[in-house]
Amino acid sequence: METRNYINGRFIDSSSKRKLHVINPANQSKVGFVDEALDEEIDLAFDAASKAFKSRVLQDMDAVVKSNLMRLIASKLREYKTYGSKLLSKENGKSIEQCAGEFEGAAAIFDYYAGLTDKIENKLIPSGRDTFNCVVLEPYGVSLQIIPWNYPISLFARSVAASLVVGNTVVVKPPELCPLSSSIFGLIFNDVKIPNGVVNIIHGYGESTGRKAVLHGAVNQVVFTGSTEVASEILKATADRIIPCHLELGGKSAAIIYPDANVDKAVDSTVKGIFEPNAGQICVGMSRIIIHPKIKDEYVSQLKKKTEVLKVGPGNQPESRVTPLISKEQVDRVSNYCKIGKQSGASLLTGGEKIEIGKGNYFKPTIFDNVDYLSTIAQEEIFGPVLTIIDFETDEEAIEIVNSTDYGLAAGLFTSNDEKAKWTAERIEAGIIWHNDWFVDGVNLPGGGYKKSGYGRDGGMESLFSYGQTKRISKRLYQE
Ligand code: NAD
Repeated sequence: METRNYINGRFIDSSSKRKLHVINPANQSKVGFVDEALDEEIDLAFDAASKAFKSRVLQDMDAVVKSNLMRLIASKLREYKTYGSKLLSKENGKSIEQCAGEFEGAAAIFDYYAGLTDKIENKLIPSGRDTFNCVVLEPYGVSLQIIPWNYPISLFARSVAASLVVGNTVVVKPPELCPLSSSIFGLIFNDVKIPNGVVNIIHGYGESTGRKAVLHGAVNQVVFTGSTEVASEILKATADRIIPCHLELGGKSAAIIYPDANVDKAVDSTVKGIFEPNAGQICVGMSRIIIHPKIKDEYVSQLKKKTEVLKVGPGNQPESRVTPLISKEQVDRVSNYCKIGKQSGASLLTGGEKIEIGKGNYFKPTIFDNVDYLSTIAQEEIFGPVLTIIDFETDEEAIEIVNSTDYGLAAGLFTSNDEKAKWTAERIEAGIIWHNDWFVDGVNLPGGGYKKSGYGRDGGMESLFSYGQTKRISKRLYQE
């Protein structure tokens, strides 16, 4: 596996020889290491990205040539899928099936954006017979893209692919906890001969490499996917320079289950919404259920049964449904929230503790019932397999509970009444609303946060406006 930083079209030897070690969350074995990028590598990466941007290599590239290049990246991602998904599973803990899904998803993203390179149609705005006004979409310049550990391949793809279409050059900082699989992008960029400096990859810790990268003078845009706390720090660090930031942050997503909902569908959606995907370490995890008492007994009894049979185990065993948490610290964090939940008076229906399976970071899928909607476990992002169940009486009360957190990433509702669904969707403060299922997604669909879940949109055509800025060119027409 390539362990070096990828800068200006090649993997370069480390100046410091400092390494970042990667641990397998399923058993604490060493998966490998990457070179830590310090000042020298950070400067080189931004220098390369700046030169590539100034050369206009992306902006002047023929749209069909760019499209073909991006389609090649997509097909290489599929070629690397088997190898990459095993590597990603080892360093991240997710099931190999879900990791393969990430590579497939990343390929689909590149294919989708490859299809857009020749479809950006700029606007002509009429305003009288002697003027000519057009509005064009232009890149920001050098885009710094900081990626979290939970979905490092697909999140890398979504930001880089959109950037390439608009014409930004990029410096990516992958997550320190699972950086290895991101190096596959460097191998692919070399395979497809992407122009030097267009995408650069620097490894390192957030507090050192990440922080220095944000402060680098060559940054023209920051795309940050991660926690709200770090986003706030990045905003402060970029405020004086007025650097545009695009922020995809945490969530505390809720689903309302109305009395006329299909219980089987609601239960299956809950299992796949909070327990199965990466053991709940997902920004849009269905972490709150807001349910009407008329339907609750049936829902809770089915859900408890289905939850208690979920097999907890390593990502390389196909029967594992709940895989390890990323680190020992994450297990402690989730355990602590469960302790707080019990102290708050919520009823623990199942789980609530870690499981010893070898040396892995395993946590039992957990359900808390009778949760006070303003209590800590109902308000804060736990980022683990922990579900909170809250009762509601009136529809207005359900909306108030959904909107009571600082977050606004995704939300859902289960009802067979389309009028009620519309009424509900219009009142929920979140960037994505799912009706009668969880994860109704596609590469052509935009998503992003309300409130402290961030701003800017990823996915679909709308995303292009988060990676670029418009320029108006107005001309006065006259005859000499
Ligand atoms: P994090 O904020 O700790 O780290 C994210 C990235 O930021 C990492 O690469 C890290 O090295 C870097 N970083 C940390 N401190 C930094 C600093 N001071 N300056 C610059 N970079 C710094 O988040 P995490 O624990 O890796 O990821 C989990 C969080 O990400 C959760 O809150 C989750 O909801 C969120 N997330 C959001 C989305 C989305 O699309 N909205 C997707 C995935 C994850």
